[in-house]
Amino acid sequence: MVLADLGRKLNSALSQFSRVPSVDQEALDALLKEICAALLESDVNVKLVSSLRQKVKAKVKAALDTGADKGREGQRKNIVQKAIFDELVHLVDPGVEPYKPRKGYPNVIMAVGLQGNGKTTTCTKLAVHYQKRGFKSCIVCADTFRAGAFDQTRQSATKAKVAYFGSYTETDPVSIAAQGVEKFKKERFDVIIVDTSGRHKQESELFQEMVQISEAVKPDMTVLVLDASIGQAAEAQSRAFKDSADFGAIIVTKMDGHAKGGGAISAVAATKTPIIFLGVGEHLADLDKFAPQPFISKLLG
Ligand code: GDP
Repeated sequence: MVLADLGRKLNSALSQFSRVPSVDQEALDALLKEICAALLESDVNVKLVSSLRQKVKAKVKAALDTGADKGREGQRKNIVQKAIFDELVHLVDPGVEPYKPRKGYPNVIMAVGLQGNGKTTTCTKLAVHYQKRGFKSCIVCADTFRAGAFDQTRQSATKAKVAYFGSYTETDPVSIAAQGVEKFKKERFDVIIVDTSGRHKQESELFQEMVQISEAVKPDMTVLVLDASIGQAAEAQSRAFKDSADFGAIIVTKMDGHAKGGGAISAVAATKTPIIFLGVGEHLADLDKFAPQPFISKLLG
């Protein structure tokens, strides 16, 4: 089920609930059943869904026990609706503030993720985003694994009018990353984005490379780039990258497509790491800032 369908299902469950004559256990259970089924169909991790159900129940019970409904049916509905909204927000909010680049300082951002997830595209989108906000931005292509990676960076960076660094001959990604970051630091760039190699699968070689590049460039923020269509595999994949690259932020790409999105959302809870942007298309401007509350409000229409 794509994200827009999830929104519609959640919405329909909530509006059905708003019409029940009395908020009793049966009505609450029916609502939670619908909400949880919709989340599961969207690939949200089963443990997260079960925890959402428990937390909503506990919150509603606690509120009713203290008489917060003042004996009024409408008030009881508000309590339930708020508990659901808050727990949906909680799904995408690990309660951790992401790193915020500051001007006049060489903020090094390292992007990691499996091949095809949209890493190179996202690096250019990020550079454009920061450049527009007055940060002198650039990209270092440390992907020596994929043939044509540097060409792709060169083309998209040129199109975006963003400075770039890479090599057709150097085969050591750690050396390229270190050289590029050093060069751009000397040239007083504010945002230095390091694009790294991916692989089709999670492999120990890739994770070792991430550790080495990370030690060489000492990123201020490492970003995991995750494809929204990844489904339930998101949890294992994000945990594996967390162990090697210890990323502090997530960007979910291809949110414009037919992806369910719930898997990527589960990566937030699995790694206690905030989503900072959503990739919503192939163009350089297709990058939306992510914030938990507005995202859930928009999802619920
Ligand atoms: P990498 O291997 O991780 O560096 O992936 P690329 O940046 O080469 O992207 C792989 C494909 O995904 C390309 O065709 C991109 O145009 C496409 N892509 C990346 N981000 C998005 C997005 O947010 N939406 C859509 N629809 N396509 C995207």
